[in-house]
Amino acid sequence: MIRGEELYSGKAKSVFASDREDAYILKFRNDTSAFDGEKVEQLDRKGMVNNKFNAFIMKHLESQGIATHFLELLSDTEALVRKLDMFPVECVVRNVASGSICRRLGLDDGVDLSPPTFEFFLKNDALHDPMINEYHIRSFGWADDEAIEVMKTQTFLVNDVLQTLFADAGMILVDFKLEFGRQGDNVFLGDEFTPDGCRIWDATSREKLDKDRFRKGLGGVVEAYEQVAQRLGLDL
Ligand code: ADP
Ligand code: UDP
Repeated sequence: MIRGEELYSGKAKSVFASDREDAYILKFRNDTSAFDGEKVEQLDRKGMVNNKFNAFIMKHLESQGIATHFLELLSDTEALVRKLDMFPVECVVRNVASGSICRRLGLDDGVDLSPPTFEFFLKNDALHDPMINEYHIRSFGWADDEAIEVMKTQTFLVNDVLQTLFADAGMILVDFKLEFGRQGDNVFLGDEFTPDGCRIWDATSREKLDKDRFRKGLGGVVEAYEQVAQRLGLDL
């Protein structure tokens, strides 16, 4: 597979053309950012860990019937993925309250949310990813009714599958963010599922094993990601 032109460079990943008309090469970099790109650092090995972590999760989701963009691992830091037209929205499911929902609704960190709750956000750093609802998505044409429905049902299905996966390894899946896109008539899960875009706590100690370690300056960020991978049985 020949890596073509760099088409987009995001905060943590880059998108390259591939020699397949219908696929891109997604490169996971070591760059780590928080607060809409205000805090940025390079973390050794993170690109490699996240690329392999993402491949493991996407394959598991595929095995459970969820259509993802993942095609194959190409190198330590690169994967071949279906070329998608991304919807500019983020889908968040929360099993436990943490982060922005606590600030917005005045909740204590760590309160169980039963049933899990769902939120849409607009993918727009300049506007600090504001929370939006389905009416905004329809009025502004960010996605149609069918895609909105797929994003919600698939995100909840991902939650069911991954809550079990993490629980079986002694961890709590607190919340996570997904992005979806379209190829032709079909909607696929795109982007990534890694500890950069979710909250994972140790089930007993409630120690943070995700990007909150970076946001809060707790240190041991990549070491925590590696620990999660290892506990899921992933050989990095
Ligand atoms: P950001 O754009 O938020 O800085 P990243 O650094 O993760 O985020 O950049 C990756 C970009 O690639 C994101 O904008 C994401 O929406 C986009 N993307 C992810 N998967 C695909 C795909 N399969 N096809 C097209 N674009 C994708
Ligand atoms: N998230 C993300 N990218 C974003 C915003 C949020 O991956 O641009 C993830 C975040 O890591 C967490 C979940 O989505 O797992 C919910 O994030 P929240 O709304 O609590 O925002 P935060 O307080 O983390 O900024």
